[in-house]
Amino acid sequence: MSFALTAEQEDLRARARDLAERVIAPRAAEVDRTESYPWDNVKALTESGFMGMTIPAAYGGPGRSFLDVTLVVEEMAAQCGVTGRIVVEGNMGAISAILQYGTEEQKRRATELVLSGDKPAICITEPEAGSAATEMTTRADRRGDRWVLNGKKHWITGGGVSRLHLIFARVFDAAGAEQGIGGFLAFRDEDQGLVIGAREPTMGLRGIPETEVLFQDLTLPADRLVVPPSGLKRGFADLMNAYNSQRVGAGTVALGLAEGAYRRALDFAKQREQFGRPIAEFQGLQWMLADMSVQIEAARALIWRAAATAGRNGNPFPDSLAAAQAKIFASEMAIRVSTDALQIHGARGYSRNWPMERIQRDARMFTIGGGTAQVLRTMVASRILERKLPQTRDGYSALAAATGARKQAAE
Ligand SMILES: Cc1cc2nc3c(=O)[nH]c(=O)nc-3n(C[C@H](O)[C@H](O)[C@H](O)COP(=O)(O)OP(=O)(O)OC[C@H]3O[C@@H](n4cnc5c(N)ncnc54)[C@H](O)[C@@H]3O)c2cc1C
Repeated sequence: MSFALTAEQEDLRARARDLAERVIAPRAAEVDRTESYPWDNVKALTESGFMGMTIPAAYGGPGRSFLDVTLVVEEMAAQCGVTGRIVVEGNMGAISAILQYGTEEQKRRATELVLSGDKPAICITEPEAGSAATEMTTRADRRGDRWVLNGKKHWITGGGVSRLHLIFARVFDAAGAEQGIGGFLAFRDEDQGLVIGAREPTMGLRGIPETEVLFQDLTLPADRLVVPPSGLKRGFADLMNAYNSQRVGAGTVALGLAEGAYRRALDFAKQREQFGRPIAEFQGLQWMLADMSVQIEAARALIWRAAATAGRNGNPFPDSLAAAQAKIFASEMAIRVSTDALQIHGARGYSRNWPMERIQRDARMFTIGGGTAQVLRTMVASRILERKLPQTRDGYSALAAATGARKQAAE
């Protein structure tokens, strides 16, 4: 695999860095302080063609790769984590699932919204179904030619600002028989029964709302169900496969935050003098900076590798193993690097007049959202051990019993 970017990718990265430094950076502190969604940034991203980059030409986009998207995400997140996340969700996750599995009409509506700046919301997590997402209770019942959804999600990024929602729900046919978990498209301000609930006061990434989203007899036309080719019984797995793109994106925001913290720490260490010398001359700090650079390079290599797996072996999305490995490493790395970068700034790092404390608060999220570092480790273990690792007691017992029976038969 080549690690060299093409001239076009270098150009894309340079354009992203220019926008991030010129337009996004000066607003980052205010976005955090006012906890308001940065519509101005969204406008700038849209005008620069950074929303809907993965949308193919047939739907009006440039059809760029996930790797291209990571180049833009990293630059945005190096200045503003919230803006980095908007670029992720405007190019990966829900929109890429719809592009892969949606009908023509679904693709048309979704791409129109994203290309005009809408960051889709993806609604999976429920108060009682976090890591155990398949325990969700939100249900979609078939009634005549419509679907009626009831249930409650929480921690939905973009609740109240996103128009397009991809909602995961248990699907029941007209006879009340469960069909599996499916994804539904709903549009805020258009579909009756999509209610935005309470906003969560968050530690970081404060410019993007995390809210409850409630479905109160949310009534959708029949054609809003996004059906993967393998049908509903495998639907959830297929939709989650698409989510691997978002996972790579989340890891990239963490990478960008770390990169931003590192660049600032490096500059500061060269300028700040104590004991009559720049503090960069002290070996204690030199080694911290060296470690930061090593970890950032390693994370970037994992992210690029994961993004580049998309399209291999007939899978249009990043490989789940590579995506999980990249997100685990990048998310934990960002916490370490932002802590050290803050330390290098001394008291200034602890001040809200400086960006370091914001970066550290922002970086804290990525070992949690989009699959926790623990759950992703179990995914990695399952792939490298080449066996299912059921986490429910029943699932574990059933597997143990089946394995025991196979062993007995073989003896
Ligand atoms: C900022 C932010 C944005 C988010 N955005 C969205 C969104 O847009 N859409 C959406 O649907 N969700 C979103 N989420 C929710 C997120 O995906 C969940 O928080 C995550 O899946 C974990 O669920 P939980 O918080 O309920 O934790 P829990 O599942 O309750 O986990 C609690 C702890 O137990 C550990 N744990 C759980 N199960 C296991 C296991 N089997 N083995 C080892 N450890 C385990 C976890 O790692 C964690 O440390 C967001 C979360 C955050 C913080």
